[in-house]
Amino acid sequence: MNRRQTIPAHLRYTITDFNRQFPDDAACLEHLKEQRFPGGIVRCEKCKTERKHYRINGRPVYSCDHCGTQISPMAGTIFEHSSTSLRLWYYAMYLMASTRCGISAKQIQRETGVTYKTAWRMFRQIRSLLSEPEMQLEGSAVEVDEMYYGGRRKRGAGRLLRADRDQKTIVVGAVERKGRVVARVVPDSTRETLHGIVKEYVLPASVVFTDEHQSYTGLEEIPGRNYHHLRIKHEAKVYVMGQVHTQTIEGFWSLVKRGIGGVYHSVSQKYLQSYLNEYSFRYNRRDQGNLIFTSLLKRVAELAALPASRDRGMMPLIQEPF
Ligand SMILES: [Zn+2]
Repeated sequence: MNRRQTIPAHLRYTITDFNRQFPDDAACLEHLKEQRFPGGIVRCEKCKTERKHYRINGRPVYSCDHCGTQISPMAGTIFEHSSTSLRLWYYAMYLMASTRCGISAKQIQRETGVTYKTAWRMFRQIRSLLSEPEMQLEGSAVEVDEMYYGGRRKRGAGRLLRADRDQKTIVVGAVERKGRVVARVVPDSTRETLHGIVKEYVLPASVVFTDEHQSYTGLEEIPGRNYHHLRIKHEAKVYVMGQVHTQTIEGFWSLVKRGIGGVYHSVSQKYLQSYLNEYSFRYNRRDQGNLIFTSLLKRVAELAALPASRDRGMMPLIQEPF
């Protein structure tokens, strides 16, 4: 990947653009409201009808002009219950979206002036927007491979001491060549687990490339799946055989490892999945320049709108009047 490549003008979103679009908290709130209620808030749940809503001065809420019921665009989002200004949140999201390799909570702290604790919380919340659970890969070339994070290289893993192997976190990834990637932390590398990942993330009738790891054996026999399974013999020091290789996913692994090493130094097992989500999110939007920021803003509203997130004990969208 060429780090110096310039982003084409139509895919560029600079700090000047950011400052122009989001000069203050009010602009951010208005934007958030538009994302969650396109065209404006029209329906009052208490009046049970369409009502005009106006912004309450000095508070991040909009109020029904008939009964006074207030609606907060922040309710149910990652911004709820935060005393950090909305503009700082937006700025932190801009920073996270605009760097190629990601930034740390420490950098958010430095750039925004919030405490480290607050920066860490913002960092976690913003990152929670980056999962793509619905994604399924397909096509004539899907590579599947495992990565062992937190130790020595994968090749020759058979010769590692058991204790050494147990300390590693196993990640399975699938990537469409010139397409999208999915990466998941898994408990083990058994056939059941690896087949399960392929079934979950790779659509039937795809061509699947793997190495000779025995847990991939039988992929082509999964009933109803019609996978065409081709393998490369890494043990025999063969890495590419015509179209048969797993170099795309291996490229992604090295991106992840270099990224984690360069920005975060290392990552505990507990958080590895969220880091993988971040790298995947960015990888899957690598053609968008730094318009990734726009995708991130959309995710705020998308995830807030999920009924499941309200079931998880989030505040109801409608609050009592005054
Ligand atoms: Zn009302």
